[in-house]
Amino acid sequence: MAKIGINIATGSLQQAEMIVGIDLGTTNSLVAIIHPETKQPVALREFNTSSLVPSIVHFDEFGNPTVGETARQFLEVDPQHTIFSAKRLMGKSYKDIQENAGYFAYKVIDDNTESLVKVQVGDQFFSPIELSSFILKELKQRAEHILKTPVTKAVITVPAYFNDAQRQATRDAGKLAGLDVMRIVNEPTAASLAYGLGLKADQEATIAVYDLGGGTFDVSILQISNGIFEVLSTNGDTYLGGDDLDRAIMQFWMQAGGITMEDLKQHQTLAQGLRLKAEEAKKHLSSHDRFSTDWNGEVLSITKAEFEGLIAPLIAKTINCCTRALADAKLTADKIDTVVMVGGSTRVPAVKAAVSAFFGKPVNDSVNPDEVVALGAAIQADILAGNNKDFLLLDITPLSLGIETMGGLMDVLVPRNAKIPTSVGRQYTTHVDGQGSMRISVYQGERDLVKDNRKLAEFNLTGIPGMPAGLPKVEVQFLIDADGILIVKAKELRSGVEQSIEVKPQFGLTDAEVEQMLLDSLTNAKQDMVTRALVEARTEGEQILAVTEKFIGKNQAQLTQAELIDTAAAMQALQLALTMEDKNLIQSKIEELNEISRPFAERAMDQAVSGALKGKSI
Ligand code: ADP
Ligand code: MG
Repeated sequence: MAKIGINIATGSLQQAEMIVGIDLGTTNSLVAIIHPETKQPVALREFNTSSLVPSIVHFDEFGNPTVGETARQFLEVDPQHTIFSAKRLMGKSYKDIQENAGYFAYKVIDDNTESLVKVQVGDQFFSPIELSSFILKELKQRAEHILKTPVTKAVITVPAYFNDAQRQATRDAGKLAGLDVMRIVNEPTAASLAYGLGLKADQEATIAVYDLGGGTFDVSILQISNGIFEVLSTNGDTYLGGDDLDRAIMQFWMQAGGITMEDLKQHQTLAQGLRLKAEEAKKHLSSHDRFSTDWNGEVLSITKAEFEGLIAPLIAKTINCCTRALADAKLTADKIDTVVMVGGSTRVPAVKAAVSAFFGKPVNDSVNPDEVVALGAAIQADILAGNNKDFLLLDITPLSLGIETMGGLMDVLVPRNAKIPTSVGRQYTTHVDGQGSMRISVYQGERDLVKDNRKLAEFNLTGIPGMPAGLPKVEVQFLIDADGILIVKAKELRSGVEQSIEVKPQFGLTDAEVEQMLLDSLTNAKQDMVTRALVEARTEGEQILAVTEKFIGKNQAQLTQAELIDTAAAMQALQLALTMEDKNLIQSKIEELNEISRPFAERAMDQAVSGALKGKSI
């Protein structure tokens, strides 16, 4: 039984070992706990504020970040320094988001490679992990301020469709914010838990979770049996949400008042005002029949019926996604036992009505749709804290397992707390032309540099046929069986050469040692991430230098004298930056070299060059 203390000064409750639940959303984030007295989940809010923290980071002229409502004020008036929707960038390369690059009003670095994206704000470069960590830090502080106790452990939710890289990025963001991420939970699973679904051992149910947020729409079909949630299918539209409803109202008013896009572009404050009025109208119409306001001396009004007419096509799109999700799960609507509503935009009565009509049953909307995911995360956290003994916990890995990549970095394949048995594979490539063998070093631990972790095993994959750097595809696979035995396999996919090894990950480690390793990782998280960012920037810089040099050697004849001189200067500047301990400087020199070499690289793009930039090298 956990101890509960009461802070005499404030009357607030203190509990040892509090694990918080965090909904790290695209538009809004929030943190929730199980109230130590009532045992009910509650979302934490500062006095007189909303429980929601807008997922927005604004940087002032000195590069200092602020998060949440204050940052939101800068969306239209200082777009270059105001980062929204960082979640969309998690675990993504520029190529992944290229199609939607126009969506971001701030600078997302186009480095034309498959390495992870960065955002440039002034002369600083941020990874989406760092940006998300600012939001998580804000939530952590909010929780600590309200609970009057340090908060170091959290459960964080992610969309069900998040892949391995996106989940790992979310874990890293938590770590950077000083949080030990006990588990990553799917958002629809958390929402179901908040409705009490899956909390009884013998419960069997098929659930549809309809989540319409600020900028994204997801529908998931889940199957619960014996306390285990299985995602049968997911569908959705990553660029459809409440923002589109606001936009529909804005356009309606612009048409009525003869306002053009040009007018708004010239007056960012007016545009901001209009957007806020549109959102206000939308929310008002969720519980009233008409809305009317004054904007810039004009009367703007809209009725509920008009609004519903505007958004009918958007709602229809979400229903199409539901049809596809059911088809993928090989189910029909009548096989769904429960429909759960998630996301602020499901407050719109027309949305509820459409979903209920589609599934042929009333929807579950009794839990606040803004909070339901965070509340579920808090329930999961409580189970992990051991406060809910009836609930069976599956076997999990105590520490992360991974291999060493360039620069001595730990690349995690199986994160700590992953359910076992499990199997994960990832592709790597070579660093040097004609590299005939690759050393696979297997490590266990939470630190970013392998030298701080524990080496479990090592072997050489030999017989890789001579190919240019970046061309071989080496698939490394980690398989953990139900007894916790780890088998590591490496296979070069083009030639088929293969090697494997068996290890017992828990061998020789006591609980106390595991605990110590976790503690070390938290204390050193900040420094580790800084080092990792530096090592990654250097590796990227070195690779780009090597590729450019090779490229120039081959294609000199096709380049103008000016191009050659500019390139040489940019290479020299990068070379110099590599000797310094400043990842922002290295990033900006990489950027400059890319800017210069892009036109001619595009002119004569050759396979080996693009190939060399793919995948991490060992
Ligand atoms: P996300 O999961 O993407 O972070 P949320 O679930 O917090 O987003 O949903 C935010 C969206 O919900 C915003 O577009 C907001 O305008 C909308 N919203 C909030 N309250 C209401 C309401 N009463 N009626 C309609 N939409 C609402
Ligand atoms: Mg959400």
